[in-house]
Amino acid sequence: MTQLHYETLVLDGTPRAGDGRLPSGESFVTSPLTLTLITGERDAVLVDAPYTYGQIERTRNWIKDSGKRLAFVYITHGHGDHWLGVEELLKAFPDTAVYATESTLAKMATEVVEGRAAVWDPALPGLVPPASLVAEVVPEVGLELEGERLEPIHLGHTDTDGTTALWVPSIELVVAGDAIYNGAHQYVLESGDGGLEQWLEAIDKIEALSPKYVVAGHKAPGAGDDPSNIQATRQYLLDARDALAAAGSPKDYYDTMLRRYPHHVNASPVWYGALGLLGG
Ligand SMILES: [Zn+2]
Repeated sequence: MTQLHYETLVLDGTPRAGDGRLPSGESFVTSPLTLTLITGERDAVLVDAPYTYGQIERTRNWIKDSGKRLAFVYITHGHGDHWLGVEELLKAFPDTAVYATESTLAKMATEVVEGRAAVWDPALPGLVPPASLVAEVVPEVGLELEGERLEPIHLGHTDTDGTTALWVPSIELVVAGDAIYNGAHQYVLESGDGGLEQWLEAIDKIEALSPKYVVAGHKAPGAGDDPSNIQATRQYLLDARDALAAAGSPKDYYDTMLRRYPHHVNASPVWYGALGLLGG
């Protein structure tokens, strides 16, 4: 058995093309993205992958600098900003497998065609490499790194459908994907019609693991991995639910959330959520 470790790489958000603007007049920006490298003595596992050429270059160097062999990549959920660049990245690491659960794979299959055409190519023209559905289902025997188990935790809907976290019992680490955020505004656009309640249940499931470290899929640069971000993510959703119910307009919701969370990074998802859930 090996003592595992982990480190994270937080990639800055990318400005989006197009005419969409925040109420302040600023352009939309994608959320900062967290990648996690779990390392043993010789091997490493990457959790989630970059999506732009620039991020891919940084990630490739980061993995190479670790000095470890990349054993496989695990994708926590289907949103393109967590995996569309994995095929391009793996040109530098041939024969490295990419795993996801069946429900995540189903979401990835639509994301790579419809999601890409609707969102990623218009928003980031020329920045996202060609991608195919390279991931395969997690093998029946499960996942391990140098004899230590890595367990996919099925979470269902969080900020999208078919999401998971990766639990590493030996070091009490949860790589939470988008179930947990940290210091960054949460994407609630896909959480109408009971989705917020399902997301809250997923948060309970993560809390029940009693993790010592919780890596948020989107966190403010410099933010740590303290388990207190579980409760903070829950409170944000409860506040969002109240604010959505009370809002007379998208702008009401937007203003309420920015007033309540003045130090959170990236207001773009607040505005997408406002327009999508309250009409605009
Ligand atoms: Zn995300």
